[in-house]
Amino acid sequence: MSQSSSLATGLRCLSCGETFPLDPKLFVGCTACMTEQFQAPLDVTYDYPETGEGLLPDAPIQGLARYTPLLPPLADGLSMGEGGTPLVAAPELASWAGFEGELFVKDESRNPTWSHKDRFAYTTISGALEAKAKAVVVSSTGNHGAATAAYASRAGLPCIVLIPSFCPPAVQSFLLAYGAAVLVVHRRAASSVIGEGVHQGRWYPASTFTPTPTGPPYGGEGYKTIAYEIWQQLDRRPPGTVFVPTGYAELLHGVWKGFRELRDLGLADSAPLMIACEPDAMGPLREALASGANTATVSSQPTIAYAIATNVNGYRGVLAVQESGGFAIGVTDEEMREAQRRLAYAGIWAEASAAASLAGLRKAVAGDLETEGPVVCISTSSGFKDLALGERLAPEADGTWEGVEDALMRNYGIVL
Ligand SMILES: [Zn+2]
Repeated sequence: MSQSSSLATGLRCLSCGETFPLDPKLFVGCTACMTEQFQAPLDVTYDYPETGEGLLPDAPIQGLARYTPLLPPLADGLSMGEGGTPLVAAPELASWAGFEGELFVKDESRNPTWSHKDRFAYTTISGALEAKAKAVVVSSTGNHGAATAAYASRAGLPCIVLIPSFCPPAVQSFLLAYGAAVLVVHRRAASSVIGEGVHQGRWYPASTFTPTPTGPPYGGEGYKTIAYEIWQQLDRRPPGTVFVPTGYAELLHGVWKGFRELRDLGLADSAPLMIACEPDAMGPLREALASGANTATVSSQPTIAYAIATNVNGYRGVLAVQESGGFAIGVTDEEMREAQRRLAYAGIWAEASAAASLAGLRKAVAGDLETEGPVVCISTSSGFKDLALGERLAPEADGTWEGVEDALMRNYGIVL
């Protein structure tokens, strides 16, 4: 028999283990062990049944509500059918990456606002409604802001989105379209402004604002559903390895937690290795793992992967990599651009940050990756969000047969 209500019981600190109730909502990580240098994220706990059989029904319920027992309480009427994204077989990409096994791309651009962030936004805005929030605030470079704005708008909540100045014009229009109040604010200042608004009880935060990223605890739970779906799409097989574009590692940890639950509930024999794919220009998670620290800060460097560019890692990433036996890998702008081109040739137009996973696979294979079972690369978002959007325009041709023939040959090497 399937369970129809949330089995969530409370929150637990991922570092010291201190427990907290689900309400009142906490936004600054664990208050028991926080120091000036490190703030630990909180994780939702559940009253798990002995076995997971029957817990995740195949019933045709649209959206994340089909996973209700293993998610925090979800608001009624808010879903837009998020999730349920395709797992695309990609033998041509496997061959390009030099990988001899089965390769799949989980294409998260097929969500309502064209990125994985819709899963995060649905669970987070559900929490905001539960807490009777007056307004929602988010600091974002694009995807997170758009998803939050869309779900907040559906929920009837005012939404404030603080963006950095490098946010592409198309993405700014995208954010404004949902009716959000969008302001350009320097990223460092954005965190303290959000902290002030939250402290005064005026704003409900949908993104992290602590010096060490802690993230809203409900949000990452939405990402567990990516693991459930992959397992279902592989006919109840767990993949061997999953490559994930990584910034604060909320996605990496959420997907890991989902696979870990499937294993612990007896639904899968094993859980995959989780590979964090960071921009090579900045690798705070690689630095933290190498130094044995919970968190590391590196200098900010330019990268085209603006959606995952961070100079400080989230502790969730350290846990996901260590618990799964995976690793973190850095990919250059050039490697991401090449992976992005290959994904597009395979029919999936992704932004550069989203292609970090495929670039990571190719690099890991060159470094003697050892894995058993299918490999999945998560492609997080559409190419529409790319910094290079609009840079490449189509050449003109003279409007005659000869003119088109000539232009095709000159520009594309096509001879009719
Ligand atoms: Zn703690």
